[in-house]
Amino acid sequence: MSKLTLDRILQSQGFGTRKGCREMISDGEVAVNGEIVSNFKLTFETTGLELTIFGESWPYREHVYIALNKPANFECSRKPSHHPGVLTLLPEQFNWREVQPVGRLDHDTTGLLLMSDDGAFIHAQSSPKRHVPKVYVAITAEPVTEELITLLMAGVQLNDEPAPLAAVHCKKLGENELEIVLEQGKYHQVKRMLAAAGNHCASLRRSEIGGLKLAEMGLAEGQWCYLSEQQMALLV
Ligand code: URA
Repeated sequence: MSKLTLDRILQSQGFGTRKGCREMISDGEVAVNGEIVSNFKLTFETTGLELTIFGESWPYREHVYIALNKPANFECSRKPSHHPGVLTLLPEQFNWREVQPVGRLDHDTTGLLLMSDDGAFIHAQSSPKRHVPKVYVAITAEPVTEELITLLMAGVQLNDEPAPLAAVHCKKLGENELEIVLEQGKYHQVKRMLAAAGNHCASLRRSEIGGLKLAEMGLAEGQWCYLSEQQMALLV
């Protein structure tokens, strides 16, 4: 439970600088629980607070937890170098809130990406100790063989790793299509494991994280949604 002044509340929701937030409030653009409030010094209990900002409903959120269906050619970085960052696919409030990707997908990898401004959540989800399984679907340059699957399941040695890395599960989905489940999140891990096993990853999509399945989320490429409580529970 915490009580904050209205300008601070707006700022915490990603509506820009304190000065800008005060102007929005003085201009009558902000309603609290249905009533316009133009005094930015008034304080409100944030739990369950229903804001209306520029005429749109905006429930107060202490943190945001987002799933994005990442398209190709976007970088998972707040400071991208060669392609636009994934933050450009989200409303600008998320940029102000310093939302970050939970782990990284390569710029050419598509699929399920979690994002949040909750440092503890990001840390917990990214921790190798948690062994969160992540499911990828790779299109391979060479056919998927039994031998490839055996190698990936047994573990392949990557040159900067102290020990071989193994898939938790692998399934042939088509002649050149492989589902691979990993519990680690090493740099280019799927691509490097496929290369080390004598194949080549032509394209890669992440379809699941923990119990969260992109196919059940109804997100087209480039679309995002807030995670519901039930969806959050699938990540624990
Ligand atoms: N493995 C890769 O090689 N790339 C990704 O983006 C994710 C996992």
